[in-house]
Order: sequence, then structure tokens, then C-alpha cells
Amino acid sequence: QGVAAVAMMFMLLHILQTDAAERSELDSDLRSALREEQFALHYQPQLDSNGQVVGAEVLIRWQHPQRGLVSPAEFIGRAEKTGLIIPIGRWVLRQTCAQLRAWQDHPACRDLRLAVNISQNQLRQSSFVPEVLAMIEEYGIDARCLELELTETLIVQDVDDLTRKMAKLVERGVSFSLDDFGTGFSSLSHLKRLPLSTLKIDRSFICDLPADSSSETIVRTVIALGQSMGMTVIAEGVETEAQHRFLVDHGCTQFQGYLFSKPLPLPAFMTFIGNTVQA
Ligand code: C2E
Ligand code: CA
Ligand code: CA
Ligand code: CA
Repeated sequence: QGVAAVAMMFMLLHILQTDAAERSELDSDLRSALREEQFALHYQPQLDSNGQVVGAEVLIRWQHPQRGLVSPAEFIGRAEKTGLIIPIGRWVLRQTCAQLRAWQDHPACRDLRLAVNISQNQLRQSSFVPEVLAMIEEYGIDARCLELELTETLIVQDVDDLTRKMAKLVERGVSFSLDDFGTGFSSLSHLKRLPLSTLKIDRSFICDLPADSSSETIVRTVIALGQSMGMTVIAEGVETEAQHRFLVDHGCTQFQGYLFSKPLPLPAFMTFIGNTVQA
């Protein structure tokens, strides 16, 4: 009995150590990824009800020298825990501003909007707002084309502080969207106070449309809520014509999902825009 217990303990210890070793390997890999520019941005088109591309969500990818393309699901969480999300997020914002700069020099791309995912720890930094403002100046971009995506988990903290920070950026032209809406627990009074321009309905509600009646109810309610508050409602994870139809019929005006396109590297995104403009 005693021997079994000790063996079990060693086994657990071994598992914990392996886990810890893998984590610290990931951490040091992430650090060198930043240094060696192994990150890239992909762009997922966002379309209006006429099928015009209005912009894209910016999604980070990691081109790992041994492991290949690593999905953000595998490293963003860890980067948030270690604080590495701060320099990674800064890099994403800078690349995005540079991309907007390039587009704004061409009449056909001038109005394209880019939406960037912002983590809680980024926004919590007191330097966040001044840094974003400085990048807008440095690249001389029209800030109306820059949208920051926040999630509901971000809102449970100090709402006053958050509102002040958002207001400073909104004043400069930046807009905010609430990502994964419906999956968190943000209260409607918070929603009303924050200067948000867009609600993104989470994919988990879209995927069961139109057969599932509770998803139908939630989606209809969110669209009506957004409309009544003067916000744009965008549906993410639209994969089928039937889902798109349902959303259009219920007043949703912007769409993102595999039905239209997966997230694309820049050249493919430009081709996608070219094709939809011709169509
Ligand atoms: P998210 O913000 O909810 O992004 C949407 C995710 O859904 C993306 O996954 C996208 O590829 C995927 N998606 C889009 N359309 C469809 C669809 O029709 N069907 C399905 N099944 N999936 C679809 P991705 O690119 O793997 O990103 C995962 C998450 O990683 C993002 O979720 C976001 O939370 C985070 N993330 C990505 N880039 C960044 C970043 O630059 N900074 C931060 N802080 N987080 C990021
Ligand atoms: Ca997002
Ligand atoms: Ca989302
Ligand atoms: Ca989501």
C-alpha cells in the first residue's frame, strides 16, 4: 500500500515536472518568436449585407520553425499568464497600423477597417492608451479604421477606469466592439455605459442556427438589443447559407465566417477583395 502511494506520488510529480518543462519551453519559444519575427497576421474578411468587404479581423499566427503553423488558441492563454501578451499585442497593433497606412494611400482600400483582439492585461496597463495614440500619430492613419475587440471578461473589473480609457481612444476616432457577446456575464447597464460601437454575436449561437430554437431566440434578441442601442451587430462563425439567411432576415448587417472566407494571409486577402469588388 505504502509503496503504491509513493509510486503514485512520483508519477504525479513526474507529470507536473513534464508539464512545467513544456510550459517553460513554450515561454522561451514565444520569446524567441518575438525576437525572430515568427509571428504573422491573417485577415478574415468582414462583409456587409451587400456582400461588400468592409474590413477584416486581424488574427495572429505563429510560424514555429519546428512545429509549423501554431494556432493562437495554443499560445495566447499562456502569453496572457506570463505577460508576454504585452509585447506580442504591441507587435500586433503596430503591424495593423502599418497595414492601415499602406491601405490608406490607395483610394480603393482607404475605408477598410481592421479589428484587433485586445487582451485584458494589455488594457490594464496604464501605458496602453498613450501607446495606441502614439502609433496612430506615428503612422498618420485615419483612426476610424481601427477597431479594438474586447471580451466580456474584460468588463467585470473597474468599469469606470475602463470607460475613461475607452473614451480617450474613441475621442481620437478609434471604435470598440464587444467580442464573443453572450458567452460572458456582462450586465446590460455596463453595456450601456461603455462607448461600444459593435456587438459580435458569438459563434456558439450561430452554429446551431436555424434549427435550434433557443439559439434563434438569443440571436434575435442580441440583434434587437444592438439595434436599440444604436450599435452595429456582426455575426461571427457564419458557415452556411441558411445561417446567413436567418441573420439577414432578422436585421444583422455584418458577417464573418467560413461561408465567405477563412482568415487569409495578406496577398490572399487582397485577391479576395479584388474578386468581391468585381462580382
Ligand atoms: P476570436 O477573437 O473569437 O476569433 C475568431 C476565431 O474563430 C478565429 O480563430 C477564427 O479563425 C475562427 N473562425 C472564424 N470564422 C469561423 C467559422 O466560420 N467557423 C469556425 N469554426 N471558426 C471560425 P483563431 O484565429 O484560431 O483565433 C482564436 C482566438 O485567439 C481568437 O478568438 C482570439 O481570442 C485569440 N486571438 C487571435 N489573435 C489574437 C491577437 O492578436 N491578440 C489576442 N489577444 N488574441 C488573439
Ligand atoms: Ca475576436
Ligand atoms: Ca470572437
Ligand atoms: Ca468566439
